[in-house]
Amino acid sequence: MFKKLLIANRGEIAVRIVRACAEMGIRSVAIYTEPDRFSLHVKRADEAHFVGEEPLAGYLDARGIVDLARETGCDAIHPGYGFLSENAEFARVCKQAGIAFIGPSDSVIAKMGDKTAARAAMREASVPVTPGSEGNLANVEEALALAEHIGFPVMLKATSGGGGRGIRRCDSAEQLKQAWGRVISEATKAFGSADVFMEKCIVDPHHIEVQILADTYGNAIHLFERDCSIQRRNQKLIEIAPSPQLTPEQRAYVGELAVRAAKAVGYENAGTVEFLVKENEIYFMEMNTRVQVEHTITEQITGVDIVREQIRIAAGEKLAFRQEDIRHYGYAIQFRINAEDPKNEFLPTFGRITRYYAPGGPGVRTDTAIYTGYTIPPYFDSMCLKLVVWGMTWEETLNRGVRALNDMRVQGVKTTAPYYQEILQHPDFRSGRFDTGFVPAHPELLNYSVKRHPEGVALAIAAAIAAHAGL
Ligand code: ADP
Ligand code: ADP
Ligand code: MG
Repeated sequence: MFKKLLIANRGEIAVRIVRACAEMGIRSVAIYTEPDRFSLHVKRADEAHFVGEEPLAGYLDARGIVDLARETGCDAIHPGYGFLSENAEFARVCKQAGIAFIGPSDSVIAKMGDKTAARAAMREASVPVTPGSEGNLANVEEALALAEHIGFPVMLKATSGGGGRGIRRCDSAEQLKQAWGRVISEATKAFGSADVFMEKCIVDPHHIEVQILADTYGNAIHLFERDCSIQRRNQKLIEIAPSPQLTPEQRAYVGELAVRAAKAVGYENAGTVEFLVKENEIYFMEMNTRVQVEHTITEQITGVDIVREQIRIAAGEKLAFRQEDIRHYGYAIQFRINAEDPKNEFLPTFGRITRYYAPGGPGVRTDTAIYTGYTIPPYFDSMCLKLVVWGMTWEETLNRGVRALNDMRVQGVKTTAPYYQEILQHPDFRSGRFDTGFVPAHPELLNYSVKRHPEGVALAIAAAIAAHAGL
């Protein structure tokens, strides 16, 4: 096992990795740039090293990070999510320096990070992919001809995209012509690649993704699925495991598809295979070759510590579980608490957290890097906390979500928490009947007034239960 591990990330995921290291007897090394001087990951790690004044550069400097890992005697690097986590070059530099990169091989990262190459690999492995272009599109004329062939609506997507950016739905040739230049410039700016491709737009599908674990001995298993259909602008807000909308047969089928996908590309470590599901059709969408933001809910329903497994696999250990050892219990929901103002187009809100109180009690987990007095810097992602609730039944989990959101206090900045309270009361959400069209279909859920009174929560839960029971 590793002795010392460098965390090439910040914020809550860096804290999450520090915790795994602490439990495994591995010394953790944090890095930070100037705006993160007072960040929690810096305080919690065993060691922390300053990597520059500039907010982002230090977290993206592959060679600098590997040099630092060597100088500080680290034998492994965990990239977290975002930043360098899906950068094949970084994985390669680590390998060349003799430091274990906690993730799959650089060639697998490169292949799956290119969405058209990933689609080709999946077609070859007989995993159904969303209908669309074979490869990248050469010009707008080719895009228009293909769209006529597939039929509108279509999705124009950045080949190297991620984080919900670089994706545009086009309902007509006119919209496609307008989107063409925009998606290319967005992709170039955000991902450094102008490549775009096209998929048929599956209207209001379910986003279903499967967590997989694969070791370096050819063993691959899945840890069931997550339903990430509650999205705004292709970005996840609330995630659920397992999906309340899949039949046991569908569950078994997506799990099997995901394992087949992983084996087909020689995948090693933890990864996620994302699918779009519409009625009985299941289409491969993409694979994320890293720990996912919402790995938490899978941990809650299976009891498997995914970050620990990532580290074990990278250290050359065998998977500790066979597929038949993995069970799921109850339901878990993760709320991405973003420092944003839902009432103002979800505009990020920065500043000092004047008060933070973490909710607790049974079945409640918070993964965060905020604390009372912490100032949220404007340079990074607006997600500041992940609230995860678990319950034996779907209804118990929903009510626990209402209760935990109400217990929580994040003051000083506006957050998405009150908006989630509204979603939790909605009969379609409670009944488990929702798809990626839910958020745009319910703008009225933004007309909340902040409820804080404990009696209000009891009343809200009682009302929601009554509405659900049709009373
Ligand atoms: P997940 O896929 O784990 O559900 P997100 O899509 O929300 O998570 O991405 C998590 C973080 O990683 C976000 O900060 C996002 O901006 C960043 N990210 C994801 N993919 C990419 C990418 N291809 N390039 C740059 N940043 C990315
Ligand atoms: P990212 O790499 O940014 O996560 P994805 O390819 O995973 O991008 O797509 C993000 C989201 O965009 C999906 O969860 C889904 O809601 C929507 N989406 C992507 N492709 C399609 C499609 N072909 N049809 C309908 N919705 C899509
Ligand atoms: Mg995705």
